[in-house]
Amino acid sequence: MRFVLGLLCFAGCTLDGKVEGKLASDWQLLGVEDGQSVPMDQLGNFGQLSGCVTATLRSNVDVRVTTAYQNLVVKPEQQISLCFDDLGPQSITIEPANDVANASTLEVELTEVATNDCYDQLKLYQVDYEVGRESEGVTDPVVVTMPLNGVSYRFAGSTNFRDTFFMDCRLAVALARSAYSLRSRNIFEVEDIGVYNYRCIGGGTPDETCTPSGCSSSCSLSQHAFARGIDIASLTDAEGTRYSIEDDWVIDSGAGVCEQADRGAKDKLLHDVICEMNERRIWNVTLTPNYNAAHRNHWHVDLKDGSDFIERVDHAPVTYQSEHQHSH
Ligand SMILES: [Zn+2]
Repeated sequence: MRFVLGLLCFAGCTLDGKVEGKLASDWQLLGVEDGQSVPMDQLGNFGQLSGCVTATLRSNVDVRVTTAYQNLVVKPEQQISLCFDDLGPQSITIEPANDVANASTLEVELTEVATNDCYDQLKLYQVDYEVGRESEGVTDPVVVTMPLNGVSYRFAGSTNFRDTFFMDCRLAVALARSAYSLRSRNIFEVEDIGVYNYRCIGGGTPDETCTPSGCSSSCSLSQHAFARGIDIASLTDAEGTRYSIEDDWVIDSGAGVCEQADRGAKDKLLHDVICEMNERRIWNVTLTPNYNAAHRNHWHVDLKDGSDFIERVDHAPVTYQSEHQHSH
């Protein structure tokens, strides 16, 4: 019997169920092979990189197909698309409806698409851009046509969304990646306080001793000088609810930024977003209102080489006496 059923597996056949003595549960999933590598070259529902395979079920019974992301009941001859959002091995379990004891599993390998440079990565995220004008401090200037991976940006106080946005290519990639942490929470609008500003940290114009690697003077170049940092003032969801860093972020005391207790829905969403971005290693530096009074009304996130932190500075938690003090 094994031999006879084995004949069903013709060339191109991929995974098939050979259940001894139970012809009613024979099935083949055509188009996907055990061990197949699947490139992450598509965009998922929330703008995340995703790898998909298309398969057709050949069987005479319904079959349940389960992955970490999907759970489908598939009809005979139905074509399905199976998508995965994480690199590495991913399993697909196939379970004949009339023979659940005989589930089979195969594994596919999700792989990163090789890119030569930052611009290739922008293309992977389907970001619409042009190379930008040469600008002091900026290595790879781009002008992005907005929205960026489904997220619209508005300069603080302005009622109009940006049509285009000038920045370094690496920042554009980071914003493209960050879209997932926003869109998966129904956030489609960001209010920003700007990207490019050729200046020192804390203000001041860089003098002639400044190069991309630093200054001999007391000026330390801000990541804004490289157009590799952005200040974010608020987020707005599809229903129009606004989450303001200034009004809704509750300053953490004691525990780290991402270990705080639940202090209301708006504070929670803001913490969830920035902590997930940190977890996903989108930014090298994340400064929140915890950091100092100058950051009470925004997050500063940037791509400073060699840095990796979100936590507060080492001094005692900053306290605020203003109307922004929250107690809930
Ligand atoms: Zn900033």
